[in-house]
Formats: sequence, C-alpha cells, structure tokens
Amino acid sequence: MPRTKLFAANWKMHKTPVEARQFVRHFLPLVKNIRNKEIVLCPPEISIPATVEATKGSRVQVGAQNLHWEKVGAFTGETSAPILKAAGCTHVIIGHSERRQYFGETDVIINKKLRAALAAGLTPIVCVGEQYQEREAGDTDDILRRQCTEAFREISATEARRLTIAYEPCWAIGTGKTATPEIAEEAHLTIRAEVAEIFGQPFAKKLRILYGGSVKPENAKALMAEDDIDGALVGGASLEPKSFAEIVKS
Ligand code: PEP
Repeated sequence: MPRTKLFAANWKMHKTPVEARQFVRHFLPLVKNIRNKEIVLCPPEISIPATVEATKGSRVQVGAQNLHWEKVGAFTGETSAPILKAAGCTHVIIGHSERRQYFGETDVIINKKLRAALAAGLTPIVCVGEQYQEREAGDTDDILRRQCTEAFREISATEARRLTIAYEPCWAIGTGKTATPEIAEEAHLTIRAEVAEIFGQPFAKKLRILYGGSVKPENAKALMAEDDIDGALVGGASLEPKSFAEIVKS
C-alpha cells in the first residue's frame, strides 16, 4: 500500500481569524481537484474556529501547533488535546524546533504531549531534527534516533497507529536553506529504521515521514520524488494560498 502524502501548513504566529478565512476562500478552489493527498492547515490557536468553519465540507483538515498534556486543570494559557479535538482539530504539531528552542520543550515533555494527543484521537505530527553543529559533527543519526526513542517511550504500536513524524533539520527552518533530497532521504531512512526497532517493521513501512525546512514550490517536486518522503510540513511558503497549493500539487 503506498503511503498517502500529507501536506501540513504551519502558520506559526501568523493570521487573524479574518485572514485565516480569506486564505481558505482563496485556497480551496486551488486544491479542489486533489483527491489522493491529505491537507492540513495549522493556524494560531485563536484562528482555529474560523479555519474549521471555513474548511467545513472540504477535504482540508485543521491542526493545532501545540497542546498541553493534561486533559483539564489549572494551567493558565494552555489548551488540552480534548479541547482541540472539540474545537474541530484533527491534527497537532508536537515538538517543533521553535518550541524546543524558545519554550524549553524537552524530549520528556514531547513524550507526554504525544501520549495526550494519541489518547484524544488526534493525529500527532512529531518534529525531530538536528542543529547545524550536530550535523557538522556527524551526530545527525544519533540525534534523530535519540529524539525518536525518547518521544515514543512507553507507547505501544497500537496506541501510536496515527503517528506522523516530520523531519525538520533546524538549520533549514525559515532560513531558505533546504536539505537536498538526498540528505532528507538519508535522514528519513534513519528515522524509519529507528521506528522499525521501536514499533516493528510493518508499522515503520506504513509510517508517514514529512520533510520540513524551507520547502517551496521550486524545490517541493524533487523532495517529494524521494521514496521515503511522504509529504511536507511547510512554514513560510504556506502563508500564501497559491504557493502552498503549488507545493501540495508537486
Ligand atoms: C516549519 O516551521 O515547520 C518550517 C518548516 O518552516 P519553513 O518552511 O519556513 O522553513
């Protein structure tokens, strides 16, 4: 069974509810004939309801960029997986490098968030990736393997069945420097091999691994042609309906 490609837009801290609606209005006609790919828009939390409403009746799904691992409680400013689900989210990004870097997210926190997302029936997109210095030092494989082992600790293959991973080399995010298709493919193979060790070979074969890091209409086709690249997590180039639609079509 070929893996269905998934394209997720990470809007980060961009787009008010009105701007999110405008995006969807322009974007839906551009992708209306695309049947064999999944598309997810991940707006800032406050724009989730507007995006859910605007995409209703289409095949475009909505995801969150973060969540808290507890279901309810005194956690000011946080949102839980059940609340995201009730708001209409199907997906959630976990462990994005910006959250690791600016908000102190550790592998332990990412593991907790992943369990919460899976328990609530959300499809998690777990981000892993090395820093530039780590690649230079030849540590990329070790970093990717460690991030996977820690994120998936004490989670069973059955629980993890909706898991999606995004390989996002930190040096390629928002920098305009994309990993070459060969570099990305090699990293995806490492991740798939590690996942096979953790959850078994059949699971690893079905697992979707997205690439993220300065994906643009100009480079998407070559990246998507690699056997182990199953879609993309797109930041900057997902803010414009036309460029994100071109990436999805690539
Ligand atoms: C991202 O934020 O996940 C990302 C890949 O950003 P960009 O496409 O802008 O590099």
